[in-house]
This record gives sequence, structure tokens and C-alpha cells, in this order.
Amino acid sequence: MKNENAIVIGAGIGGLATACLLATEGIRTTVLEKNDTPGGKMQEYIEAGYRFDTGPSLLTMPFLLEKLFSRCGKNLNDYLEFSEPEIICRYFYSDGTLFDSYSDPDKAIKEVQNIAPADADAYRSFLNYTEDLYSKTADSFLFNPLYEFKDLKSLNWLDLLSIDAFSTVSDKVDQYFESDYLRQFFKRFTTYNGSSPFKAPATLNVIPHVELNQGGYYVQGGLYRIAESLEILAKELGVTFRYNTPVTEIMVKQKEATGVKAENGEVLNADLVFANSDATDTIVNLLPECALSKRKRNRQIKIEPSCSGFVIMLGCNKQWEQLRHHNIFFSSDYKKEFEQIFEQKVLPDDPTIYIANTSYTDKNHAPEGGSNLFILINAPYLSDDQDWELLSINYRDKIIKLLSDRGLKDLENSIKVVKTITPFDFYNRYGSNRGSIYGTSSNNKFSAFLRPRNKLREFENIYLTGGSTHPGGGIPLVLLSAFNALELMKR
Ligand SMILES: Cc1cc2nc3c(=O)[nH]c(=O)nc-3n(C[C@H](O)[C@H](O)[C@H](O)COP(=O)(O)OP(=O)(O)OC[C@H]3O[C@@H](n4cnc5c(N)ncnc54)[C@H](O)[C@@H]3O)c2cc1C
Repeated sequence: MKNENAIVIGAGIGGLATACLLATEGIRTTVLEKNDTPGGKMQEYIEAGYRFDTGPSLLTMPFLLEKLFSRCGKNLNDYLEFSEPEIICRYFYSDGTLFDSYSDPDKAIKEVQNIAPADADAYRSFLNYTEDLYSKTADSFLFNPLYEFKDLKSLNWLDLLSIDAFSTVSDKVDQYFESDYLRQFFKRFTTYNGSSPFKAPATLNVIPHVELNQGGYYVQGGLYRIAESLEILAKELGVTFRYNTPVTEIMVKQKEATGVKAENGEVLNADLVFANSDATDTIVNLLPECALSKRKRNRQIKIEPSCSGFVIMLGCNKQWEQLRHHNIFFSSDYKKEFEQIFEQKVLPDDPTIYIANTSYTDKNHAPEGGSNLFILINAPYLSDDQDWELLSINYRDKIIKLLSDRGLKDLENSIKVVKTITPFDFYNRYGSNRGSIYGTSSNNKFSAFLRPRNKLREFENIYLTGGSTHPGGGIPLVLLSAFNALELMKR
């Protein structure tokens, strides 16, 4: 492979990880990115002394980053410093009840006993159940490219019969818990891959395992340090980066890609093409129309995206003692909230509000005495009848008022910096399918099998990486997509 050259389209986490792995194999690698920074949806925003991560704020399964760095001959700890906030997240229920989640089992049980004493045993057994799901699904669905017959053959079919693919997250959680508090708490994890707990298969109850049993991590300085460190690593390995270079076409000849065309008309030849661009965009827009069957293109167009997000970043000259690093203000009617997002495709009128307040951990993320509130609300993916310019300001003001009513006293008057990001911005800036932020949704029991695999079967040398491909969205799965793509290339 020594004389081969590869082009990676996109410098998101998937593209960066892929570039590092390719360079480690001795392949000359160039990354072409449409924007002017690495990281894709993982970005940072700094204004007037306030600093925000504009994308991910929680890292799970950090051992995958460790694996990536060590595969590239480096030690992760030379690049990044991790910490684990003692309270993983503070929850504020609509009736004023407060609940802190911990990965420490004793502390967690104490908290559960405060709000739902009758469910303490159920809490323990539910976590065992999520661990069991992980052990039955991780090798089969995450660490496995699921590409050809031999991948399917390696599955343990007996295990697969007991991973609850035929009931929903919500049904299973309701079976375990009496308490509405714990029901809402455990249903929220489905949003980590942008899906509805009322539709997604109960298999997704595996997600609480990776946070509550394995731990939720922060990277000192902010999660954007991950993107920066991957770019540094890639450059050390000899990868070339070209920013402000949107790719408009993957050029193909029969069953092979020959290279790509950039927006400025430049043609770059390549032996291998790895697309970290959204899979729908790659299949429908970057490949020539005649390169793939109409059926395949239509199937890709019809695939349901994950939800999007409505983000408000507030730099405030005030601190609220009740806030921790991660905070969730729950809505009063979870079912209605998800119906509004996924069925009616409107912004929920009583949304669940997530706030990352990294200045709680990283004091220099806000001027002294201030806070940097990164507010995220699950929002519908783009549809024809939304006007985000119009919606944006009203909704932002509504959320600020809502938070003030929920205890962030005087929020309106403490704001020094304000910036919003809408679903349209996610589409426009990163080319993500209808503004989705976690790739495709899992609102279907077969979704694990519907996501595009990490290699296009129709071509010898086109690979797909990133959250819109197998095994799914979120930093850990995106890293796994890069490992899978590399394995398929080696095969
Ligand atoms: C607000 C928010 C909060 C999140 N929170 C978390 C969290 O707490 N934990 C977590 O694990 N995950 C979280 N996620 C999800 C996580 O950010 C994503 O799953 C992950 O970053 C996606 O990486 P990617 O490589 O798949 O794609 P992207 O980040 O979308 O990168 C794709 C890159 O390709 C570029 N590109 C696209 N088309 C072209 C083209 N034609 N030519 C050149 N370049 C192109 C884009 O500009 C982009 O840089 C969050 C996401 C958002 C937006």
C-alpha cells in the first residue's frame, strides 16, 4: 500500500481519525475540508472571554481514542487530559425535584433512594440489564463492520434473540420502574443518537451502560481539544490538510473512483476515496447520478435522519449555584415532546433543556464570576414549512424566559454574549442530511441494518466514515466507523 494515495473528504472526527489510520499504514493522505477548521460538528466559539464547545460536550468510551492513538504509535495522554465530573449530570424535574446522576454505584443508589425509594432494586437490576445488552451487542453491532457474510457469521444469534429489538426503549423502561422520575431519566439516553425513546428499539437501553457504568468524561480545555489533537496527530503522521476546499464530485470510472473534483474546478486524483461527508450527500450529490442505481439513491433519500438541535450560547456575568457541569431541565410531558419533534416536526413548546456549563470545571471559560451556558434543545430535522430565521429569535427568547422561571434568576439581565445555531446552520455548515446532528435515527427496529456500511459495495475503493454511516452517531461510534473503514480497505 506504500505507493497509494488517499483523499479524505471532510475533517470531522470521522475524517480525522481515518486520515490518522491511513497515514499509519503508509498511505499518502490528503484531507479536503469545506470549512476553515478541523472537527466538523465539534467546534469551539470564543467571544468576549466566554468559551463554548458548539458540538459535543460529553465523551463516553474514551478507550476508543486511546486505541486510535496507540494504533498510530502515540500515547493519548501526551495529547489530552481527561477528567470525570463527580456528578455526571444534574436533573431538574418540572415539579422542582432535583436528581444527581453518578457513576459511583453507592452515591447513585443514595440519590435514587431520595426520589424513588421503591425503585432502588430496579435501578440496580436495570443497570445490570444494560450491561448485559452491551456485552451482547458491542461485538456484533459496534466493533463489527457488518459488511459481508463472514461478519454476519461471527454474530452470536442466540444472544441476538435476547437484545429486545422488538419492544421500545420506553416500554422496557416502564416495565422496570414505577417512578416517573426514573422513567424519564432512563428514556433520555435515546437522544444520544438523536432518536425517540417511544420508537427506538429497547436495544438502545445499552446507552446508559456506557455513561453510568463506564463513566462520562470531559477533556480539560473543552472537547474541541479532541479535534485539535487529532489534527496535530495527523500532521505528525504526514497528512496534508486543505481547508476551504469543498468537494463537489467523486469521479468514477466503472467500478472505481479515480479522484475528486473540488468546487474551484481542481481535479485531484486518488487511489482511495474516504468520504466523511454525510452519507446521504455523498451518495445522492457527490457521486454522479449514473454511478448508483435509482433504488439505492432513493433508499438513501428516504432514510430518516436523527433529530437536529437548537443551540443557544449565553455568556453571562453571573453564576447560579444550583448548576453543575452538565444539567438537564426536563419537560413535563416527554411523549408530547417527542411527538412534536418527530411527527409534527416542530420545536417542542415545553422542551427538555440541556445546559453544559463548562466554567464549573474550567474556570477560564468565562470571566471571573461569570458562566458560559451552552444550551441544547432537541429539534426536528429540516422540513419544508420551517423558517428558521423567523423561529430562531422567538424560540431563543422563550427558552431564556423558561430557564429564568425554572430558577436561573435574572438570566435575561446577565447576558453579555448570545449566539444561536439552528438546524439550518447544521445543514448549511456541515452538509448534514436535513440538519441532523447524529446521522440517521434509530426510530426503527431495523435501523442498525439500514445505515450505509463503511464501504460502498458498488466500488472497489470508496469508503464511508462518520456518524451517518455504520455504526452510528456520537464520538465513540464515529471513531469506530474509521476503524471499520480501514479494516474493509485492508480486506
Ligand atoms: C450540538 C451537538 C451536541 C453533540 N453532543 C455530543 C456529545 O455530547 N457526545 C458525543 O459523543 N457526540 C455528540 N454529538 C455528535 C457528534 O458531534 C457527532 O456524531 C460527530 O462529531 C460527527 O462527526 P463526523 O465525522 O461524523 O461528521 P461531521 O462532524 O459532520 O464532519 C463532516 C465534515 O465533512 C465536511 N464536509 C461535508 N461535505 C463536504 C464536502 N463536500 N467537501 C469537503 N468537506 C465536506 C464538513 O464540513 C465537516 O467538517 C453532538 C453533536 C452536536 C451538533
